[in-house]
Amino acid sequence: MQAKYCLQCGHLLEPRVIGDTTRPACPQCDFIYWGAFSIGVGALIRRAGKYLLIRRAQEPGKGMWTNPGGYCDPDETIGTAVEREVFEETGVVAKLNRVIALRDQHRQQHNLYVAFDMTYESGEPIADGVEVDGAGFFSFEQMAEMPVAAMTRWLIDVAEGANGRGLTEDDTEFPYPGSHQLFRI
Ligand SMILES: [Zn+2]
Repeated sequence: MQAKYCLQCGHLLEPRVIGDTTRPACPQCDFIYWGAFSIGVGALIRRAGKYLLIRRAQEPGKGMWTNPGGYCDPDETIGTAVEREVFEETGVVAKLNRVIALRDQHRQQHNLYVAFDMTYESGEPIADGVEVDGAGFFSFEQMAEMPVAAMTRWLIDVAEGANGRGLTEDDTEFPYPGSHQLFRI
């Protein structure tokens, strides 16, 4: 995907060489089109040996069971996003523990998906009825009989083998404007 008009002022963009790359840039204001990116977040939440899964009510993957998750908004951290998405989709309150996996998918829109190991806190899973039409905690025996997405099976395998490894949140402060969130080994 290429942007044709400035997303800030609407002026026609012109090619500009920045570093070694020609990028669409606005001659009228400071806008530069760096590309289309999105950040996905996903949650692996275990309770009594069972994982929290949701059934997708919409395409892509309608009818498939996956771990809960969604997209990060521009004005929130990934940690806020994953806790919000889990609650919106299932009504379950969970707190993030560690980053346990990343998936980088480059296509027209470049997507980075960040998977978190999370700790169950409260709430019984209830599907939101919009994005999700089923939600619950399921054992490995139950999952064997269900259409569980390949990526979710992979993430559960990662979570099972993590043994406390992964990136944990770090509260070091830096003089950045706005909010930020750090994770470290
Ligand atoms: Zn502009």
